[in-house]
Amino acid sequence: MSVTRFAPSPTGFLHLGHAYSALTAFEAARASGGRFLLRIEDVDRGRARADCEAAICDDLAWLGLQWEKPVRRQSEHFDEYKAVLTKLGSMGVLYPCFCTRKDIAEEILRAGGAPHLMGPDGAIYPGTCRALSSDERAERIASGAPYALRLDVAKAVARIGHALVFHEFGAGPDGECREQSVQAARLGDVVLARKDMPASYHIAVVADDALQGVDLVTRGHDLFHATHVQRVLQALLGLPVPTYAHHRLIVDETGKKFSKRDFAVTLRALRKAGVTPANIRAQFGFATKF
Ligand code: GLU
Repeated sequence: MSVTRFAPSPTGFLHLGHAYSALTAFEAARASGGRFLLRIEDVDRGRARADCEAAICDDLAWLGLQWEKPVRRQSEHFDEYKAVLTKLGSMGVLYPCFCTRKDIAEEILRAGGAPHLMGPDGAIYPGTCRALSSDERAERIASGAPYALRLDVAKAVARIGHALVFHEFGAGPDGECREQSVQAARLGDVVLARKDMPASYHIAVVADDALQGVDLVTRGHDLFHATHVQRVLQALLGLPVPTYAHHRLIVDETGKKFSKRDFAVTLRALRKAGVTPANIRAQFGFATKF
């Protein structure tokens, strides 16, 4: 019995890629007689839109999915995420970072695009503020300078003290469950909180997956690297570790991932054009009859 979830960010309308992701989670729960949850990941208050949340629910219902109520909306739980950040802070694995985007870009340029600064999703934070003394940090905070909180990956790894793994379905040649070794520093010292986003995606996801008893995380392969970071957070916080299934990404004819700007492949547009949920299920290879 698996507990799975679909966890969209309400910053646009759902497109075919989301439909595949939602169906994958829903069918995995159904195949095991388990539970399917919908979670609204709206920690980015500047980008989340109430009309998109309503549209997401409407589109998923049209697709034939049912989910448990009430739906967890992350923006209503910042206090819980703050408690998680406080716990990490007390472990000494966070540090304040005062760098602007421009500072970071300049620092990377100065380092001449050093290979250790190239992560799978682009350049990684060069660690400028990691070197600040505690006096300097206190002084800058007292002066009112805005800052983010970053995970000090090296300290986190030292504190955990042993290698980490996670289990992933579909990682082997026959789609079987395989052990993956965690590379904690893949994304570098990630941001876990910012002035305008009191808890980042990683914090909210790790806290919620544990709290909601999610034991099978199905999501796109674009989040594979995020799983490594999240596994580190789970180890620090002593949280249970779900099994993962990073599914293929649905791409357009040029091989590009759909974005929220591709209106033609939104479920809204497809529905208007006469496409049915059965067509979409068939396109992805799911049985068309419930
Ligand atoms: N909210 C994330 C997104 O929309 C997905 C998070 C996850 O599945 O862990 O990309």
